[in-house]
Amino acid sequence: MNAADIIAEYTEPPFAEKLGFLKNPSSFATKAIHTGENSNQLECSSIIPLINLTSTYKLEEAHNPYGYQYSRFGNPTRNGLETCLAALENSKFAITFSSRLGAQTAVISSLKRGEGILVDCDANSSCMKLFKNFAKSMEMNVKFVDFNNFEEFKNFLNENIKLIWFETPSSETMKIIDIKKISSFVKENFSNAKIVVDNTILTSYLQRPLEFGADIVIYSITKYLHGHSDVTMGSLAINDEKIHEKLKYHQGAMGVIPSPFDCFMVNRSLKTLALRMDLHMKNSFIVAKYLENQSEVEKVFHPALKSHPQYEIAIKQSYGHSGVFTFKLKNNEKIEKFLKALKIFLQIESPCGSSMKCLISDENEEKCELKGLISVSIGLENIEDLIGDIKNALIEMKN
Ligand SMILES: *Cc1c(COP(=O)(O)O)cnc(C)c1O
Repeated sequence: MNAADIIAEYTEPPFAEKLGFLKNPSSFATKAIHTGENSNQLECSSIIPLINLTSTYKLEEAHNPYGYQYSRFGNPTRNGLETCLAALENSKFAITFSSRLGAQTAVISSLKRGEGILVDCDANSSCMKLFKNFAKSMEMNVKFVDFNNFEEFKNFLNENIKLIWFETPSSETMKIIDIKKISSFVKENFSNAKIVVDNTILTSYLQRPLEFGADIVIYSITKYLHGHSDVTMGSLAINDEKIHEKLKYHQGAMGVIPSPFDCFMVNRSLKTLALRMDLHMKNSFIVAKYLENQSEVEKVFHPALKSHPQYEIAIKQSYGHSGVFTFKLKNNEKIEKFLKALKIFLQIESPCGSSMKCLISDENEEKCELKGLISVSIGLENIEDLIGDIKNALIEMKN
């Protein structure tokens, strides 16, 4: 038997493929484990990158063959992480930031006064807040519209708009937007506008928006990419050299950089990204199926379920789905009681571990379509324990 036959005999078809998603090329985990490990950085042959905490470097060329000057503008540990992130995205470049909001700040700072940004109305509330509070005071013209209402989207486009900004899936409502449809139309008619896609919910393992025409991919690394709830970081992935040069300069000049220690932590986490995402996907699909079959549940919005309104778009642009989805109970008055009865699922802001929360908050209470929606994040616990916790809470909620 040759190698391919042996592998085929013992490898089941991946879960995502069975659900109808695109087939992921097989080299992802290998790249995550090996890219950006510069074992020569201190000529000591370590297999894991060293944490280089230095803030400044000797400037004479004889002492400094690597060209580093000052860590705000470049640091070996950070560069190693950026090399790995770019490899996973199949992008030419990646840039890391102190947070996802820091990355957003760097991108919107490349606009001139009076230029426009068109943002999908389901964007994350902290993303919206930054647009509303700062971009406007910087006299940028920010408009919010539903990108899945294509006629309205087209009506809002004009020559002045320089950024087209959306999340898919949207982190709160699980709306899926057709990346190729949006970017082809914009490229054909308004070639000065750049497409920015927030890919936080899927990560580069499950979706790579540059493949479908996006110019910039933005991440909150804080969530799945790091996955251990102990680092706050953001990043961008870019193919275009000019865009990269500008934003790389913003990273250093605006000072929105992550620390070398955090870069080391994230680099370490990426080695298990594929493993973690496969289990998030499987666990979340099983819980979604379970909820769908409960009489107390009104509706489940999970992109891997055929009942999701944009299921057909999801399977043609992603390699699977992660652990985040939403659902509605039949009786809205019982939501609080249900959430309080859960023991494993925490009520917290940030998805990647196991959590559930009500989507209506002070910030978006005007969004009445969110009423009654519960946002779920499925972690890596045993599936029997997760379902057991939900089952108990559904019983307790009725008492
Ligand atoms: C978490 C999250 C943010 C905020 O990210 P930070 O890393 O805390 O800046 C913004 N947008 C989306 C889609 C998120 O999931």
